[in-house]
Parts: sequence; C-alpha cells; structure tokens
Amino acid sequence: MPALAAASHVMPTYRPFDVAFVRGEGAYVWDEAGRRYLDFNAGIAASALGHAHPAMVAALSEQAQKIWHTSNIFRIPGQVELADRLTAATFADLVFFTNSGAEAIECAIKTARKYFSARGEGNRQRVITFDGAFHGRTLGALAAGGNAAYLDGFGEPLSGFDQVAFGDHEALEAAIGPHTAAILVEPIQGEGGVRALPPQCLTGLRRLCSERGLLLIYDEVQCGMGRTGALFAHQRAEGAAPDIMAVAKGIGSGFPLGASLATSDAASGMVVGTHGSTLGGNPLAMAVGGAVLDVMLADGFLSSVVALGDALGARLERVVADYPDQLAEVRGAGLLRAVQCKHDNRVLLNACIDRGLLAAGGGDNVLRLVPPLIIDESHLAEAETLLRAALDDVAAGEGAG
Ligand code: PLP
Repeated sequence: MPALAAASHVMPTYRPFDVAFVRGEGAYVWDEAGRRYLDFNAGIAASALGHAHPAMVAALSEQAQKIWHTSNIFRIPGQVELADRLTAATFADLVFFTNSGAEAIECAIKTARKYFSARGEGNRQRVITFDGAFHGRTLGALAAGGNAAYLDGFGEPLSGFDQVAFGDHEALEAAIGPHTAAILVEPIQGEGGVRALPPQCLTGLRRLCSERGLLLIYDEVQCGMGRTGALFAHQRAEGAAPDIMAVAKGIGSGFPLGASLATSDAASGMVVGTHGSTLGGNPLAMAVGGAVLDVMLADGFLSSVVALGDALGARLERVVADYPDQLAEVRGAGLLRAVQCKHDNRVLLNACIDRGLLAAGGGDNVLRLVPPLIIDESHLAEAETLLRAALDDVAAGEGAG
C-alpha cells in the first residue's frame, strides 16, 4: 500500500499518497524513482488528452510567449473564438469562462436565480438537487451538493436548495413549488459513485422543466467534454438539452479552465456587473481550450471514445464476473466507468497503485476508471491485467493494510 505523504506546510485538507509524478506522456506518468504507471485516474477525469499532448504543448508554449493575462476589462479575442465554437457545438448561446468546476457551478446557480429576479420573480430562487451529487467545494456548490460531511463546521449553508433522492420521480415532482427556479443534476454522477441517469430520464427532466417553467441545469464538469463519447453526456439523449450547463475538467485537459454555458434567454439576467473573475478565460486558458476542442472535434475522435468505452465496459463486466467475492457491478458510460466493490474500495485502489495502475475512488464504494480519452485498445488490455493482478493481491491479503 502506498504510504501517505509526510506532514508539510501545505494545509492538510488532502491526505495524498506518498508518490509524486515528475513526467507524463500520453496515458503514462513516471514517479520520482522512474517507475511508470498507467494513468486511469487522469487527474480525476480532467486530463482528457493525457499528458504532454503535442497539440496542447504547442498551443500553451506559443501563447506563453505572446501574452498570458490581461483581465476581462479588456477584450479577449480567444474568448470570443472559444465561445463561438462551444455554442456552435451545443444548445448554448453564451459562455462565461471560469478557472474551475465549482466556479462554473456558482455561475450556473447565479444565472438561474438572476433569470427569475430580472423577470420580477425574485421569490423563485430555489434549486432542486439530488442526493449523491457533487458540485464542488465552494459554499454555494457545497449547499447544492448537500453532503453533510462536507458542510460540517462551515456555518449556515447557503439557503435555497431542496434535495431529493436520485432517480425518484415522485419525490422530484413533489419538491417543485412556487419558489422553485431550477433543477440541477449531473447526467452521470461522478464523485457520487458513477451513477448514470438513463437517457429517457434526461428527456423527461427536460419535459418537466419546460412544462413547469423551470430552468434545467446540468453539471457536466466530470461527465462532459467527450468522456462518454459525445461532446456532452446529455447529447446522447433525445431532446434533453438544458438551459444552463457547467463544464470544467476536460475542457482544459489539466489546465485550470471551466465554463458556464447558457441559452441567451436563461442568461438574460446576467448583464454588466452581475458576475466576474480576474483570471477566468485569460488568453493562456483560451489557447489551451481551443487546442483541446480542435482534438476532440476532429473526425473520428469521439467515435473512438464510444468504441473504447464499450470495450472497457465489456472488459470490466468480465472482471466483475471473475471476482464475484470482491466486485458487485460495472457502472457508467464511455470512459467514465467504475466497478462497485464489496469490500473497502480504498484497499483495491491501493493495490492498483501498487501494481502501477492509477485509478480513483468514489462514493458508493466504487473504484473509478477514468482514463485519458486518447488511449487505445492496448491500454485497456494493460489496465485489465493490472486490475486483475490487484484483485488477486487483495484476495491474497497483500493489498490490505
Ligand atoms: N462538479 C462535478 C460533477 C465534479 O465532479 C467536480 C469535481 O470533481 C466539480 C463540480 C468541482 O470541480 P472543481 O474541483 O474544478 O471545482
């Protein structure tokens, strides 16, 4: 089991494994001792194009030599260009660029609330969310996520959120009231245990919101940007477009970049002075975001993610069938996958790392496998071999402890 890092002057909000990576290439990273790992963690589903992708290195280096940062009080041509491309590829008309997923969620919530207040319905501020959700660690995002452990000790949570059980249609309908503004949902819950809403549920949510005059907000921070084989996960469902969507992680593929997308109607309250960010959408981030989109929208990229995702799913089904004492089921879609563990998922995660396979934990006792989207079949085969070896280690008691 990888040891935990020794204490330092870094605020101890994480308990990192005592392994530091000094180099990455494609789907592999190397630690300080020169040991190679297959990276099916990808910086928690963020490094969509893997490590040191040539197109990203070129875009970043080129922009780094021109200009990094100017602030949003000056025109940023890269923002106009990236917003054009993102809106052309989605339901949206307008984009606000952020540095992170939590900020994208904050902007999404503000956009929804402001929509109603700008229409003279300032009493419609409540947002319905789902149990198991994770929207980030800022105070608004924490209140939206409703995870008691994460809220503990931080005072009165931001008011205005009503949480219902994931997938409970009746509870959802019952929660809608005269003060409801929006429904906020991850099409596939990531941190909550890779729980996917079936496509027909997304279509149903869209219909419900339209019928009841509510805004539909998707959090596609983890499941978006190609990870399911569609540019955004909801695009796999018919007629399920949201009014507002938060994006991050893969859009910067390891660079701090997020975005909140909206229709012009939903964003009608977001006029001058209503929101801002010093660094959000700076020229460096825009260069990276543009390079990521070039790769993802190139012919064949997303269809290859579909094929790889199916292949990973099939491999994991076989693994689960072969290890019934340890694994319960396979979850997810595309390259956002998980196996649910019957014993402590951290034991299997440690055993994977020991074997040279990076993965991620998750709620509901899952082990998440979220590789970069640039992998090929050989990486899937290698991951399966390493996962089976880790499961054997756990069974033999070596991964425990
Ligand atoms: N929303 C979802 C679905 C996430 O998975 C995350 C992070 O894991 C966030 C929001 C928060 O993103 P960030 O950590 O970039 O603030």
